[in-house]
Amino acid sequence: MAKINVLDQITIDKIAAGEVVERPASIVKELVENAIDAGATTITVEITDGGISSIRVIDDGEGIAEEDIRKAFLRHSTSKISDAGDLTTIATLGFRGEALSSIAAISMVRLTTKTHDRDYGSLYEINGGSEASLSQVGAPNGTTFEIQQIFYNTPARRKFLKTPITEASHISDLLTRLSLSHPEISFQFINNNQVKLHTTGSGDLKDVIYHLYGREVASNIRAVTFTGKNLQVTGYVGNPSINRGNRNFENFFVGGRYIKSNLISKAIEDAYKEYTMQHRYPFACLLLSCDPELVDVNVHPTKMEVRFANTQQVYEDVYEAVHQTLKIEEHIPQVEAPL
Ligand code: ADP
Ligand code: MG
Repeated sequence: MAKINVLDQITIDKIAAGEVVERPASIVKELVENAIDAGATTITVEITDGGISSIRVIDDGEGIAEEDIRKAFLRHSTSKISDAGDLTTIATLGFRGEALSSIAAISMVRLTTKTHDRDYGSLYEINGGSEASLSQVGAPNGTTFEIQQIFYNTPARRKFLKTPITEASHISDLLTRLSLSHPEISFQFINNNQVKLHTTGSGDLKDVIYHLYGREVASNIRAVTFTGKNLQVTGYVGNPSINRGNRNFENFFVGGRYIKSNLISKAIEDAYKEYTMQHRYPFACLLLSCDPELVDVNVHPTKMEVRFANTQQVYEDVYEAVHQTLKIEEHIPQVEAPL
């Protein structure tokens, strides 16, 4: 007797959702990255109970046309690439076309969206991967996603959620990094009706650092501008005096994406060695750019790790960028942060 079943699409999406959606912060990441890709200038994220009961992401980007809405929720559907050739020149944060289908598979989604060229918007509801409604509504330009009851239909995964406070802190960390990598966008984060983070969107990274970390930090940082053999490094590093007991103060971005990298952490920390005590970590917000051929960003679905072609050179470039900044500006008095 035949034993093999071909799984239906809803089951396939539910299984695949495990790759993309680990916790509420994964949903916020995907939705905010979509808002950035849509050219938004203001993005508001509102959560209740750490995002476990609800997440709302509001943007003023280009919106989704009525006739594209159903397609946007299909697996591997994207407006950002059209074939494998485009993979070498990705200019957007998304490109896999997996987020919306994955999110919809494990939660209840309500989407309100309007493009600039229409005078009405659309409201679409999809629960556990099954369409519930599609109708025309009045709406401002842009897109609002409301996600409720994450993992309501996958109880095994729901059990792995942490407390609302822990889940909210993951979201807060994420929005801190997204704000740093996009000074031109005004971000607002509201947790249980309280504003937790608000940046102006002025385009000035120092201004973002001031709004996120306060005057003490913003008036103790030095600008970095360095061109090495592999990398161009810009951003800010802190005076050695504003160190911390953990690495939460270290942020780095490659081609605008936040990444985790022991190699880069080590290069930064080694450059601080002569200035700080052991087990103290510096403030750093470094933007690295390099020839796309020297870095592979396509390593993991959540895209937090990257692979460099020449790790030794990357280490040396980052080390030199920080080392020279610390040396050169040592005796220059620090300017006051903007108000
Ligand atoms: P990807 O971002 O990899 O393309 P997603 O599943 O995240 O895939 O989104 C599918 C498509 O839905 C996107 O390619 C885009 O066209 C559209 N989309 C999603 N979110 C937004 C948004 N906030 N504004 C405009 N379009 C959006
Ligand atoms: Mg996306």
